[in-house]
Amino acid sequence: RAKSNGRNGVQRFTPELGKRADERLALSRRMRTALANGEFRLDYQPQIDLETNRVTGVEALLRWRDAELGPVSPATFIPIAEENGLIVPIGEWVMQQACFQAQVWQATLPGLRMSVNLSPRQFARGDIVRVIQHALALAQLPAHLLELEITEGALLHLGSLDVLRALRATGIDIAIDDFGTGYSSLSYIRNFHAERLKLDMSFVRGIGVHREDEVITRAILSLGRALGFKVVAEGVETDTQLAFLRRHGCNVVQGYRFARPMQAAEAHNFILQFNEGSLAYS
Ligand code: C2E
Ligand code: MG
Ligand code: MG
Ligand code: MG
Repeated sequence: RAKSNGRNGVQRFTPELGKRADERLALSRRMRTALANGEFRLDYQPQIDLETNRVTGVEALLRWRDAELGPVSPATFIPIAEENGLIVPIGEWVMQQACFQAQVWQATLPGLRMSVNLSPRQFARGDIVRVIQHALALAQLPAHLLELEITEGALLHLGSLDVLRALRATGIDIAIDDFGTGYSSLSYIRNFHAERLKLDMSFVRGIGVHREDEVITRAILSLGRALGFKVVAEGVETDTQLAFLRRHGCNVVQGYRFARPMQAAEAHNFILQFNEGSLAYS
């Protein structure tokens, strides 16, 4: 069950952990004290603008290392945190931490944007706008440097789009995460007030392999362009994928081809070097 994955040992446990009820219960119990014990951390994955060949933003990705279990994948613990409600305090911590980090980085990486993932449950609370504004104010981060990543599914659960409207009004950007895997109609997408669509990595993975994935990728890229969205491709791992995305007008890429999610100091060094042009690009 324990699977070593990557040099920093992130995600030693696969999402398989937590499939069984007793495992979920155990994880849920351990999660209750994890925040207070400082077991959470954020990693940051660079996003590269293909027009300028520069890192223009990072996505904050939550990491949990339990004392006994070791690293637990967010794919495993986020759904459990959604269920037991802990996603609310954890999400607030993530927001605050990400805003502080983004603000610190402005000194050496001016204009660098921070993307933060939000789950449906965090929206269900009436005070999400206030929580985010509080985090921005505390960190003294300008709202336009923050982007919220929300999946289509989460958006459909919203009921009302007032929250999105309120967030947009403060200058915060919205990105639709895992785009293409949900059920929203294309015309409805326009109502989400989003700036960016994040093309799901399942399509990216099929580039050069399955014609259907290439067709869908091209369709999403041209749809995005036609409707005025920027498209971010997730999970870009190979030169083939990169060349295809570039050729079809993808705006931004994110993936192991460039960089894995990294701890803050490592991410900072990477971005400085990359933007200086001293890291091989393509
Ligand atoms: P996501 O937001 O779609 O994040 C992208 C996932 O793809 C991340 O997995 C990232 O590490 C991984 N990834 C990036 N590049 C590549 C690549 O080239 N190849 C492959 N195979 N994978 C790549 P991660 O960090 O395990 O996160 C999984 C999911 O957990 C995220 O999907 C997001 O939905 C959720 N999540 C992570 N952090 C947070 C958070 O702070 N709050 C909330 N609510 N959800 C989070
Ligand atoms: Mg995301
Ligand atoms: Mg995604
Ligand atoms: Mg996802």
